[in-house]
Amino acid sequence: MIASQSRIWTPLDFERDGKFVDYLRLPHSTDRSAYGCIQIPIVCIKNAIGPTALLIAGNHGDEYEGQIALMNLARRLTPREISGRVIVLPSANFPAVKAARRVSPVDAGNLNRSFPGSATGTPTEMIAHYISTVLLPMSDIAIDLHSGGLSLDYVRCAIIRPGRTSEEHQELLELLRVFGAPISFVDSSQGGGGGGGATTLNAVARSLGVPTITTELGGGATVSPAGVQLAEHGITRVLKHIGIAPNLAGEERAGTEFMDYAGRDSSIYADADGIFEPAALVGQEVFEGDLAGRLYYIDDPTREPMELRFRKSGRVECRRFPSLTARGDCLYTLMLPTVV
Ligand SMILES: [Zn+2]
Repeated sequence: MIASQSRIWTPLDFERDGKFVDYLRLPHSTDRSAYGCIQIPIVCIKNAIGPTALLIAGNHGDEYEGQIALMNLARRLTPREISGRVIVLPSANFPAVKAARRVSPVDAGNLNRSFPGSATGTPTEMIAHYISTVLLPMSDIAIDLHSGGLSLDYVRCAIIRPGRTSEEHQELLELLRVFGAPISFVDSSQGGGGGGGATTLNAVARSLGVPTITTELGGGATVSPAGVQLAEHGITRVLKHIGIAPNLAGEERAGTEFMDYAGRDSSIYADADGIFEPAALVGQEVFEGDLAGRLYYIDDPTREPMELRFRKSGRVECRRFPSLTARGDCLYTLMLPTVV
């Protein structure tokens, strides 16, 4: 028989009123710990009857604004302030978070390329499966907080996948307006940087009919204070909007600007190994033919660096963060204003 029930378990009772801090136990048998488990922190805050919000960060381990925002929220939010349930998973791929890496050091698993996951798969696949089969089905809304991580600097934005019906789509657009990131995207392409497709959390949430927002809050494996603030204010506004915490104090929404990914042919990739000297900032408007940066040949110090020029006009959506670059690395993607 194929096991479809998660092997991850927790003593936490999601149906009990109150605030509970516990761990998901992921069985992980190793040389040094035959009956050991990976313990993934989880917080459940519940009061009375109302909708459930699932808040996730640490899907990629080296993206920090969301992790901080969710720890702040989990510490501050009390059951008295809510009607419904808030489930907080601040470090979803816990081994990746502990290792300060995008992917898990245990199985090289990229959690946001592992959905819907597998009950009997690797630890990362088991986490994806638990979220897909236990946490998302309990939820009326999900927010999955990402940033650019070690290799990218990202414009602060929130992203939805297109709704399956026009009603669902309008509801999702309204969530983007309520969340109030400076930039909002409707990602109708592949998702996850052009390669994620159906393997992302957002894609599985969509198939389950759970309205979901993902974000990019900064990058470079550092912490953008503006990114943390956006996550905290955006989540507060969403919790108020869906009626879980109607009286929570929070900032008024700011306007958001809808943008579209400008397409693969506007992105710039490194055509050689070298040190990347960027010439444009994230969010900056650039024009076709503008200098995008230079690549310096470290083995050949007197050789003229390679000049890279933008092939389309647009605004910089994200930019490579580390300087040392290999052929094939993505250096820039661009975005363009759109009407929704
Ligand atoms: Zn991410």
